[in-house]
Amino acid sequence: MNVRVLGCSGAIGSSSGAALEPGGTTALLVDDDLLIDAGTGVGVLSDDQLARIDHVFLTHSHLDHMGYLPLMIDAVSDARDAPLTVHASRATLDILRAHVFNNLIWPDFTRIPSPQAPGVCFEALETGERVTLNGRIVTALPARHVVPSMGYALSTDHASLAFSGDTTTNPEFWAAVSALPGLRYVIVETAFPDAQIGLARAAHHYCPKLIADDLRGVGIHAELLISHLKPPHGAQIIDELRAALPGVALRALRAGEVLEL
Ligand SMILES: [Zn+2]
Ligand SMILES: [Zn+2]
Repeated sequence: MNVRVLGCSGAIGSSSGAALEPGGTTALLVDDDLLIDAGTGVGVLSDDQLARIDHVFLTHSHLDHMGYLPLMIDAVSDARDAPLTVHASRATLDILRAHVFNNLIWPDFTRIPSPQAPGVCFEALETGERVTLNGRIVTALPARHVVPSMGYALSTDHASLAFSGDTTTNPEFWAAVSALPGLRYVIVETAFPDAQIGLARAAHHYCPKLIADDLRGVGIHAELLISHLKPPHGAQIIDELRAALPGVALRALRAGEVLEL
């Protein structure tokens, strides 16, 4: 299983110019047919690559994680003969139905081109539930955010990668992650530096201090790959994490890189 980082930034734009720091907001392509979140990073895919995606797993309903989903459903409708399956919590799917696919913001692709052969179908997931697709196991993990949210674990029979989605203080996530077999990578968000801890708490995101508090006493031997850095603060957040978590292998996740499991 390969996980290609299409986008992992906490915002569009970058601190030093788009040419130096490519990559938009959150989207991870698993092999060529599964997508975890559909932020603006999806924009790097060609129409052929978009049409090969059969399943999208959404962490939550915020635009930086699903903004390209409506557009990609439309883009591939002629090229596909089966609906795209969107997996998310029931609460997230209800938000998408009410506020996105409502025939005002975007057409209701769960009923067009026809109710019998729609462009998209929704599959509700509960935290802890597992979906197996061609030997790849996707497990929904707990998250705590301002809207209903979940993370995901991706596992083969011998290795795992965990992704936090957007979350703040979340001991349940680390408990679930530390039980994963062959844990190799943990992609965890850190949106804010410690100077903005009030904002992190209010917006239900992590800052370095909140991650360090959660990891006290938890044995995580995988590499931490930090995502959702707000572009002006990226280097500062990484420095603060290294100071707060001595001995922990961590670095910023990079758009364009491929993680192998
Ligand atoms: Zn969010
Ligand atoms: Zn986000």
